[in-house]
Amino acid sequence: MSTIFSKIVNKEIKADIVYETETVLAFNDINPQAPVHVLIIPKIEIPKVTDLKGSEHAALLGDMIDAANKIAKDLGIDKDGFRLVMNCGDNGGQDVYHLHMHLLGGRKMNWPPG
Ligand code: AMP
Repeated sequence: MSTIFSKIVNKEIKADIVYETETVLAFNDINPQAPVHVLIIPKIEIPKVTDLKGSEHAALLGDMIDAANKIAKDLGIDKDGFRLVMNCGDNGGQDVYHLHMHLLGGRKMNWPPG
């Protein structure tokens, strides 16, 4: 089922895009939880982490990690560190069922998370 993120991929809805390749798109979160809060998503529709298969999606996940590292470097948070989060399902706190990785940084993160 299509979500708002597919509409962003298809450029039907505007987003503040910070990075794009053939396979992934990254844009600023509309409700940032840190000075840097970027969402990195695959362009293809995969609802959640439990729909991923290492054998099928390893390259795509690699592309998402490459994107995170590139964006972190571009935004100057690579040296101090950052957090990558993928929420899965209700208990994981997932609201949008299009796979996405949160890149959070620019401040010290708390642990344990809420
Ligand atoms: P999650 O709770 O892991 O599913 O995260 C979904 C994230 O998407 C939240 O942090 C929202 O603030 C963010 N979000 C929802 N709609 C938009 C949008 N149109 N543009 C940018 N970020 C969005």
